[in-house]
Formats: sequence, C-alpha cells, structure tokens
Amino acid sequence: NRRKKIDTKEFVAKILDGDITFLSRAITLVESTNKRHQQKANEILNACLPYANKSIRIGITGVPGVGKSTFIESFGKHLTSIGKKVAVLAVDPSSSVNRGSILGDKTRMEQLVVDKDAFIRPSPSGTSLGGVAQKTRESIILCEAAGFDTIIIETVGVGQSETAVHSMVDFFLLLKLSGAGDELQGIKRGIIEMADAIVINKADGDNVKNAKIAKVEFNRALHLYPPKENGWQPKVLTASALKNSGIDAIYEMILSYIDSARTSGYFEKRRNNQNKHWLFSTIEQELKRRFYDNTDVNDQLKKEIHELNNGKTTPFFSADKLLKLLNKS
Ligand code: GDP
Repeated sequence: NRRKKIDTKEFVAKILDGDITFLSRAITLVESTNKRHQQKANEILNACLPYANKSIRIGITGVPGVGKSTFIESFGKHLTSIGKKVAVLAVDPSSSVNRGSILGDKTRMEQLVVDKDAFIRPSPSGTSLGGVAQKTRESIILCEAAGFDTIIIETVGVGQSETAVHSMVDFFLLLKLSGAGDELQGIKRGIIEMADAIVINKADGDNVKNAKIAKVEFNRALHLYPPKENGWQPKVLTASALKNSGIDAIYEMILSYIDSARTSGYFEKRRNNQNKHWLFSTIEQELKRRFYDNTDVNDQLKKEIHELNNGKTTPFFSADKLLKLLNKS
C-alpha cells in the first residue's frame, strides 16, 4: 500500500469538509471486496451517517440513446447555476461485463465533469444487482456527508436495475422519446408505475410536434393508473436536453413534489420504507454469501448434486441438509 494510512477520524473530517479526493477514496473503500477495506468503509459510513440524509435524491432511467447523460449534464448545470451541489452516481450491473457502459466514459458529461460543484462517479462493478445497488446506496450517504444536496442516480432502462434505483430515491424520472407512433409500445408496466414523472426528451426541431402528441398520450395513459399512495399524479413534460429547454420546469416540478411530500410526511415514510427494504436485502445477500462461501457447504453441495442426479435425494431434502451445515459452523 503506497498510500499513507489515514485513520477513520481524519477521513471523515475531510469528507465533511467537502474534500472530493477523500470522498472518492471512501467510495473506493465502499466498493472494495477486500475485508479490511470493507471494515474501514463501514466505520466511515457510520461516522458520516448523522450528516447524511439531507439531500434530494433523484433517479433517472431510460433506454440507451434516449439522452440520459445529455439530460443529466443539462439538468446538473442548471442546478449548479442556482447554487446547488450535485453528485451523479449510477447503478449499472452490466458495466462489470461491459465496463463503463454508463458514466464510465467521462466525455459523456464534459461540462459537468469540470464543474467544481459537481461530482460524477461511474457505476460500481459487480456481479449481482443487489451488490452493485448496495454500494451505490452507501455512496449516496458519503456524498451527502460531503455536502452534496442533490443526488442523481442514473440507471439503464433494461432489466431490474430500475426497481433497485426506485428504492433509493425520492423522485423517479423516466426519460422517453416521442415519434414511435404507439407511445406505450415497449414500455414496461412496472416502470410506468414507478415513475413520478415522464420527460419526453429531444423535443426540439422537427420533433416538437411529435413530443406534444406524445405528452397527451402519456398523460392519458397515466390517468388509467390508480393515483399513487401519496396522492401525486405523475406528470408528463417535454424537454430538450441538447438545447437546455424545459429543464428548469422539470426541477420546479420536482421541488413542488418534494415540498408536498415533506408536508404530508410521505417523504420521511418513503425513506423509512426504503431503509427497511435495504435492511432485508442486505441480510439476504449476506446470508447467501455466507452460505456459498462456506467450505463445508461447498464440499457437500457437490455430493448432493451428484446424489440428486442419481435420484438418491430430493432438492428439498438436500437443501435442508446443506442449510443445517451452515448452522454448525
Ligand atoms: P444515453 O445513452 O441515454 O445516455 O443518451 P445520450 O445522452 O448519450 O444521447 C444519445 C444521443 O442523443 C446523442 O447523440 C445526443 O447528442 C442525442 N441527444 C440527447 N438529448 C437530445 C435532445 O434533447 N435533442 C436532440 N436532438 N438530441 C439529443
């Protein structure tokens, strides 16, 4: 280890002071698979926790090419121009295979990357979505402790990652394109149900008219869903991330949502539910890890599979036997 060892106290002081270098290093510890690093990361996280929780967390999803990074750049620049401090994180389990598919390529947000009030961090790599998402969640806490008041979490519009991001943000934004004709084609029902707003991007040039039509259609479609638990009717807006139009209206909408959610108590309730969700999810992951990392289990597992193939045991009987091994060690 070439780096000077730094104790947790000093680490935390630097983070609370808004030191980006130390914030980055702490996130690296969070993302590490090394046991010692994880322990240190946990100490830092615990010390940072009292200073966290004070931001607005916004999730952004949409299929590749919809304009997520262009939008985040435009939105992020708007936020820093009005005095906000913006951290951009990502959840992209595919990036472990196809490294850097989102946020990895720093050129994607050229202006935001050099903005002193912005912090951009690519998706952690990992094999399981749960693991990747857990790391991002912990990074949120560190960013908040470092003074970032708006946290943006980007995720790709494929697979289960939206659900994970939805369960760590206060507001979930779905980016869409117009002009596909039947606007609801190819949109997953679950995502519509999660979205607090839909933004039809690329509403510029020849596309303005189509975007307006799409807005009407999405609005009509959203009204077919029962209202959300907090009474919020998801909004549909149009924007051009490229031309920076419609961006301020989106932020205003988010603020009005946050305001009413805070007043009604829903804001806190949603965060509490999310914490509970992540508690259970962490327990499940940890149990699974302990099970598969256990050498007795591993040895016996091979035997059980062999027995199973020879018709000498049942999946249930074998599972029970293997789980009992975990209790013994
Ligand atoms: P991502 O894959 O969702 O992150 O999408 P990108 O932000 O990389 O954008 C994909 C392409 O769409 C790029 O060529 C952008 O320049 C373009 N793009 C993004 N936003 C807009 C927009 O508002 N209007 C237009 N005309 N093009 C856009």
